[in-house]
Amino acid sequence: MGKQEDFVLRALEERDVRFVRLWFTDVLGFLKSVAVAPAELEAAFAEGIGFDGSAIEGFARVYESDMLAKPDPSTFQILPWRDQGPATARMFCDIVMPDGSPSYADPRFVLKRTLSRAAEKGFTFYTHPEIEFYLFKDAPQDGRPPVPVDHSGYFDHTAQSMGADFRREAITNLEAMGISVEYSHHEGGPGQQEIDLRYADALSTADNIMTFRTVIREVALSQNIWASFMPKPFTEHPGSGMHTHVSLFEGDANAFYEAGTEYSLSKIGRQFIAGVLRHAPEISVVTNQWVNSYKRLVTGSEAPTHVSWGHNNRSAMVRVPMYKPLKGQSTRVEVRTIDAACNPYLAFAAVLAAGMKGIEEGYDMPREAEDDVWSLTDRERRALGLDPLPASLDEAIRLAETSDLLADTLGEHVFDFFLRNKRVEWQEYRGVVSAFERDKMLPVL
Ligand code: GLU
Ligand code: MG
Ligand code: MG
Repeated sequence: MGKQEDFVLRALEERDVRFVRLWFTDVLGFLKSVAVAPAELEAAFAEGIGFDGSAIEGFARVYESDMLAKPDPSTFQILPWRDQGPATARMFCDIVMPDGSPSYADPRFVLKRTLSRAAEKGFTFYTHPEIEFYLFKDAPQDGRPPVPVDHSGYFDHTAQSMGADFRREAITNLEAMGISVEYSHHEGGPGQQEIDLRYADALSTADNIMTFRTVIREVALSQNIWASFMPKPFTEHPGSGMHTHVSLFEGDANAFYEAGTEYSLSKIGRQFIAGVLRHAPEISVVTNQWVNSYKRLVTGSEAPTHVSWGHNNRSAMVRVPMYKPLKGQSTRVEVRTIDAACNPYLAFAAVLAAGMKGIEEGYDMPREAEDDVWSLTDRERRALGLDPLPASLDEAIRLAETSDLLADTLGEHVFDFFLRNKRVEWQEYRGVVSAFERDKMLPVL
């Protein structure tokens, strides 16, 4: 047994941990958990804990659904809301097949495989997510619109506000789990919050996002409110994005940085951005995976609608921040399509694969969008070569279906399952008659 495993076994005794939750993520990005007694852990490290994959979204195949969850000891943490008396801890797991090979259905493996492809070329992928979400007064009630906890707006500071209390409690819990928070503030919508996690390698950030969602929900419940990462809960207020700052490192050096160039961007940085832009429509089904995701990507929602980049332009899909790069280490680009309800493992894998493609094929970066893309007419946008992002889940699915890049990144099983699942979601949705239609049509038709 390795050093990290030993550390975990010792910590279990010292901290009186009686339950260990083994966490993993299904293909749609929902957290799964199985609790084991500490006595089982030695075996779990060696072989994994068996479960029936056919009951988990995206894991089923007609046969061969026995799988094993193998905890990653480097992710061991005590749950701060269960640290008294007998404590509860958690570890993220890799999912393996009975023969020990990685599971074809494990999103964490999809990301690991994409990271190691980049590593073969000498690159490490770093991400820094800005996670937005809403706080509501109550748990969702059938058909009734949710009621936000406040009426504040962007960066508002309100005395004794629910949001500020909430953020303090949430951040304390996150820090207790080893997740550093860089910034937090009230976002544009009533009750809407944003918390930004510190830069880290993409696998750690994806794990951290899964933990983050759990912590946010737990803290909300403890304060008798409800947190939601739904991409667009209100027609009239901004949606919840998960803008992600990304960069590649070669050893200790930021591969996006080059002194003296425009925006201090290296050729690699420019090619990466070009890849992310060119492939954005076909990976959109992963970065924006729900019917509701496409209601956020509309004009007037502070979210991107077209494939474009800029430096000081909130309508741009990719933004190159103008921070003075501290010896170049902080050069990064902000990808603004991704929403807060994505599967972070798959979304990061898709964005990295798109950027790597740009580097491998030596794509040229298109012209910067200097204008506010939202205020242009369709014709002006066409003249500038600004392609639209998919307008619906249906369109996103169609673009994904013919994407070699996405098929190759997700692997055959996840790709097939994911698109099948999304087609069902679209079919369910397209037949539903909405309040919009009744309001518009009943009076006149
Ligand atoms: N809420 C906006 C979105 O859906 C982003 C607002 C901002 O941070 O610029 O992407
Ligand atoms: Mg924001
Ligand atoms: Mg941002």
